[in-house]
Parts: sequence; structure tokens; C-alpha cells
Amino acid sequence: MNLSSRLSQTVKDFGDKPAFIFEGKEMSYLQLEEAINQFASSLHDLGVKKGDHVAVILGNTPYYVISLYGALRAGATVIPINPIYTMDEIAYIINNGDVKTVVTLDLLIPLFDKLDAQLTKVEQIIICETPSSESEGKVDITKQSIYRKVKPFATMLSRGSVSFIEPELDEEDIAVILYTSGTTGKPKGAMLTHKNLYSNAIDTANYLKISKEDIVVTTLPMFHVFCLTVSLNAPLMNGATLLIVPRFSPDAIFKLTKTHGATVFAGVPTMYNFLLQHEDANPADLSTLRLCISGGASMPIALLKGFEQKFKVVVSEGYGLSEASPVTCFNPLDRPRKPGSIGTEIMNVKNKVVNELGEELPPNQVGELIVKGPNVMKGYYKMPEETAHTIRDGWLFTGDLARKDEDGYFYIVDRKKDMILVGGYNVYPREVEEVLYDHEAVVEVAVLGVPDPNFGEAVKCFVVISNAEVTEKMLLDYCKKHLAKYKVPSSIEFLEELPKNTTGKILRRALKDQVLQK
Ligand code: AMP
Repeated sequence: MNLSSRLSQTVKDFGDKPAFIFEGKEMSYLQLEEAINQFASSLHDLGVKKGDHVAVILGNTPYYVISLYGALRAGATVIPINPIYTMDEIAYIINNGDVKTVVTLDLLIPLFDKLDAQLTKVEQIIICETPSSESEGKVDITKQSIYRKVKPFATMLSRGSVSFIEPELDEEDIAVILYTSGTTGKPKGAMLTHKNLYSNAIDTANYLKISKEDIVVTTLPMFHVFCLTVSLNAPLMNGATLLIVPRFSPDAIFKLTKTHGATVFAGVPTMYNFLLQHEDANPADLSTLRLCISGGASMPIALLKGFEQKFKVVVSEGYGLSEASPVTCFNPLDRPRKPGSIGTEIMNVKNKVVNELGEELPPNQVGELIVKGPNVMKGYYKMPEETAHTIRDGWLFTGDLARKDEDGYFYIVDRKKDMILVGGYNVYPREVEEVLYDHEAVVEVAVLGVPDPNFGEAVKCFVVISNAEVTEKMLLDYCKKHLAKYKVPSSIEFLEELPKNTTGKILRRALKDQVLQK
């Protein structure tokens, strides 16, 4: 089995059912299958072969689903990339990921024009037209020098009868490479096989009872693993309908959930906070929901309880990470849920809390969470040492500190790694620090996460500079040029020196304590 053949199975079972609803229009499973076949055979005609890498740089639209499954059906490996990444970030992933074909928005063509000399391996760029409502600033792509490499998405879907022979796929073939930033700076590509992804989608769907009756609000970004498995693959493998909401806003969620009678919502805690705090929040608007799923960051207990009370819907918190496709634990639906916990392990996935020696700890002792199962990635792309460090004896070391209670419920205590979570997005201090270290006036820098009422955490930065004329605004403008918006520090504080330990390592923890005490 592979992801593409598994979807074809759904098409056989539920062909006439809507696979998704987007901007008020439906597309049935049969129509989706036809579009995927067209796209796959067009890719084949363009020379895409089994094992080639196709980057998909799109927001939440049907184009995304067609590109993902079309590329998989053509035998390619898909590399999803966040469309709001900066040029440098996109270029790094495309080059490191050996991408030959890119699927993106016409709006990003000027960016690719600028990057052309750097992206030597890219042979073709398939572009989706921006909807007319968003066409402000649209460029004439025929005037761009890379125009010769550009193919319109629409032509990929209009080739008439499809005749190409699908390449044979093995469940161990790499389906997706997800770039996830590591504490060592540059992002690493987690290689997820077909088996990793379909087993996690099926196991999660069974655990959360996602079925053909469900209409799932798909508003988490599709390039992120949480959406990929929970809000995209799991529903599609069970004949459910995706209600695609390209940009999260409370107004859109209230309106569309009510209009289409959605039954499942999946989001990060920040989204729940925005929904609960919204001044026009009306419980009747979400009354069709049977289940809300939270993950990606810890869900404050007060928020979970407040949300459940107001909207009269169950919120189940779970946990996962890119390297585990992602889900390892969820609060069960047929046994008690425990607010503040990430629940119990899902089927087929083992979770253990261990000490520094890798020995399992007794209940309620804090250690590193490690996981094993068919969902654990094959490794990091072209990084054998990082892979060997992260997967030992088949166990994936998550870098998260956790404890397990007597009933088998797990609790995430803290992140071992220093990752900052801004509204569900990962920000790695080292990446921000490296950008600032490139600034001529910056001598030393430390970046850390501080509590933020809206986004869970905010990026806070401490610097030592050599030129007193440099201002906070100048450094922030500099960051904005080199980093995606959510990675830019919310504030920068100037210090004479940074606290360090005896070996000269900067003590981020001490800085964090200073902030928290203020
Ligand atoms: P990603 O690889 O982007 O999915 O990020 C995975 C990381 O998000 C994990 O290693 C955790 O640090 C964090 N995370 C995910 N779910 C939770 C949760 N329910 N509670 C606390 N942290 C979480």
C-alpha cells in the first residue's frame, strides 16, 4: 500500500461524496482522482521520474491536495515549503532538498526570478494563478527571465485521456521530506515514507473516530505535518470531507462551520484562544462540531475548560512531531480525558519516558520522551550523523521532557531543545541568532521564548553591540529582511554582556528567569 493507492481505495468506496469544499464549491472524490491522474501524467510528460523531488509552496487550496497526491502518484517525493518563508529560507530548502520541480503561486515568480542563478537544479516551475480577489501586485510573468521554465497549473489538468503507467511504489519509498529546524541551526529534512504517513493517518483516524460522516475544518497550514496527517490524510482516507479554510480567522471559522455543518475542528491552542476571546463568539455557530483537536503546543488547562464550557464540545489534546508523522499520543474519546495531558499512546505507537541512559523511568518521573512505531521517519535527508543521534535502536528521541502517570497518560513538561512556539509555528533561537550575528554591529546575541498572551510565546532577543548608534528598530528591520515574519523578535534588549557559564556558553535560562521575574 502507499498513500496514492490508499486514496484510490477511498475513491472506489466514496466516489460521489465531496472530498472537499472550497469557497462554497465542492469537488467529489471521483473529480479529485481525475485531477490527480491528470496532474501525475502531466508531471510524467515533463520528465518527472520516480524518486524526483517536487517542492510544493502553496497555501491551503485544492491545488495543494492535487499537487501533493499528483506528485506522489507520479512516483515523486514531495517537499512542502511554507510560502511565507523568505528567499534565503526557500533557496536553502530547494537546494538542500535537490528539488527539480516547484509548484507555487504566480505571486512568487519574481522571487524565483531573483533566485534563478542559485537554484541550479530547478528545471520547471508550475504556477497556480492567484484568485482574482488577491491579484493586487500581480506581475506579468511573461516578462520574467525564468518564463521559459514556467508551466501554468491549469494546463496540467487538461491533457485529455490519461495513459501513463504509474510507477510502482513501495511502502518504504520516501513520500514527503518535511524540513524542520533543528537546534543546530539550519533546517533538517525529515524523510517520511508512504508507510509512515498512511499508518499514522489511519491510526489517528481510528483513535479519533474520523469517518465518512465527518466534515473536517482544514485551516492549519497544509505544509505542516499536523495538518498533513490530521486534517488532510486522515479524513481523505476515510471518505470524510475537508472544509478548506485558507486563512484562519474566527469570523471565517464561525461562519463556515455553521454554513457547512462541520463536525471536526483541528487547531493549535492559539486558535482556540482567538475563537474563545472573539467578541461575537456565539456557541450556536459551532454547535455542529462533535470534536475539537488540539496539538502542536501545550493547551493551557483554563483555555481547554473555558472553550469546552462555552461551546459545549469536547477538546482532545494530542502530541506529535514532524519526525513521527506526527502523532504519538491523544486524549481518548471513549475513556476519561485528562486536561493538561497529551493523553495515551495511539494504536501501534509506543511511548516511553527515559533517563539520560535510555532506561525507562517509573510513573511521574520526568525524563525524555522517546517513541517507536511505523510512524517514525526513515531519517534526516543527507544527515546520517543527525539521524543516528535522533533514532537509536528504533526509538526516536523527541527532545521533549515528559512524565507518565499511573494510568498511562503522558504530560509534556518542557522542551529539552530551546525551540520557541509562536502561535504553533516553531522558531529556533539559533536560526534567529545566526541572522543577527551576521549584522556588523552585533557582538553577542541570545534569543529565547517568553510568554505571550496571544501567541503562547514571543521571540525575545538580548544583544551586545559594538556601535551605540544602532537602534532596536534598525536590528528589527534587519531581521525582517532575513526571516519569516513569525521568527522576527517581538523586542530586542541591549545588554553590556550576556550571562555565561564557565565554559563560555551563554546561559539562556538565566536570561529567561530575568524576564519572568520582571
Ligand atoms: P513539529 O515538528 O513542528 O510538529 O514540532 C514538534 C514539537 O512541538 C514537539 O517536539 C513539541 O515540543 C511540540 N508539541 C507538539 N504538541 C505538543 C503538545 N500537545 N504539548 C506541548 N508541546 C507540543
